[in-house]
Amino acid sequence: MEDYPRTLLELERRFSTVEACREYLFALRWPEGFVCPRCQGGQAWRMDRGLWLCAACRYQASVMAGTIFQDTRLPLTLWFRAIWHVTSQKTGASALGLQRVLGLGSYRTAWAMLHKLRRAMVRPGRDRLTGRVEVDETYWGAVEKGVIGRLTEKKALVIVAAQEDGQGIGRIRMARIPELTKATVHEFVSQSIHPGSGVRTDGLSVYADLEGYQHDPTVIGGSGHTASELLPRVHRVVSLLKRWLLGTHQGAVRPEHLDYYLDEFTFRFNRRTSASRGKLFYRLVQQAVQVEPKPYRTLIRPQSLGAG
Ligand SMILES: [Zn+2]
Repeated sequence: MEDYPRTLLELERRFSTVEACREYLFALRWPEGFVCPRCQGGQAWRMDRGLWLCAACRYQASVMAGTIFQDTRLPLTLWFRAIWHVTSQKTGASALGLQRVLGLGSYRTAWAMLHKLRRAMVRPGRDRLTGRVEVDETYWGAVEKGVIGRLTEKKALVIVAAQEDGQGIGRIRMARIPELTKATVHEFVSQSIHPGSGVRTDGLSVYADLEGYQHDPTVIGGSGHTASELLPRVHRVVSLLKRWLLGTHQGAVRPEHLDYYLDEFTFRFNRRTSASRGKLFYRLVQQAVQVEPKPYRTLIRPQSLGAG
């Protein structure tokens, strides 16, 4: 049963205390009841400040430990409003916008919040794309049509995967990669696409030797077709992404901040049929309390960005 606020007023009323926020996190993290993170025991006593004492191993567990809220100094009430803001902005959230809405003293804090929420938007290695998937790369930060003046000094390389859904597009994945090599491309594919799936690419050598996939490379030059005809879904996604980046942020997204926006775009795109903003809020909170199975891979997702 999905339980979420439907309006800002509902959110304000329901989550006016840290305790109410904790209850909500608890229900999403342990829908079947408490599970000890250490011994998997199912019995615990409630203590102060959101802590639970495991009856079996005496471990003191917090509903926030291991989630994106671990070690935060900001109250959960503020986090919940940030999540509502991010999921209710149809055009995407900026750190400046978040700072204003929450009345935060510093831009840096707002940026760090967005950066943490980003980790909950797309979880590498989980829910990988399946079936038949198109993969191609693109650049961001070159002079884009419709933008006056210089955008950025450096171009960023972005790799995109789009799942086929009949004639349409299913789910997507994207990531910034430092360079176009076999290692970065194969890493992206293995994190984004389930083994055994069909992978459609152009004939570039970096895509060669994709083990564990049904690879279907097409040499664009010899085919008599353009890249957008051969890989129509991934090209459609790239053009939507660029329009969004240009429209929302006036093209002012710097390559070093791009990772956040790629994940936000992916989160929105993969839930684009979801009519309710409250449901997006629910999904993001739910993903925020799902504990990472292992530390983040760093190759395609450097952690040194922003003020996180
Ligand atoms: Zn325990």
